[in-house]
Amino acid sequence: MRGRYPSSYADSDVGFAIMEIHSVHPTHEGRSTTFTGQVYRTPVHEGVAPGFLSVNLIHFSPGARTAWHSHDLGQTLIVVEGEGIAQARGEKAISLRAGDVVSSPPGEEHWHGADAEHFMAHYSLVENHPDGDAVRWGALVDESDYRLALDNLSD
Ligand code: MN
Repeated sequence: MRGRYPSSYADSDVGFAIMEIHSVHPTHEGRSTTFTGQVYRTPVHEGVAPGFLSVNLIHFSPGARTAWHSHDLGQTLIVVEGEGIAQARGEKAISLRAGDVVSSPPGEEHWHGADAEHFMAHYSLVENHPDGDAVRWGALVDESDYRLALDNLSD
């Protein structure tokens, strides 16, 4: 923690004792069992009960992507940099650009990542709730499926 706001916030009605500001957390490289290519995850926020919001900033190098996976309580992606791609099972892939917000419903199988020629970074918002797994991992997206998705983007 880098600093604190004045203690006059202590009696605020939002439930926190005081507002806090944190330094940037260390970045971790994504594991090759769940990501293809170079992917970096920087934790941003981990909710404290009764809050369960988990926020990470994820950077994908060109061609990098997640494996197929789903989120028991859904996921919201906020694209902040570059150009990317996301695909839900059985659907055409969609292209992603900075400013796009992608909402995935609970349990939907999907993957997301950079396109072949650009970096892409997004915030990932999930609920890290005891009633469900924040993420359930499946198979990697192989090269031919990745290329096919890029060649058949949804209009
Ligand atoms: Mn996801």
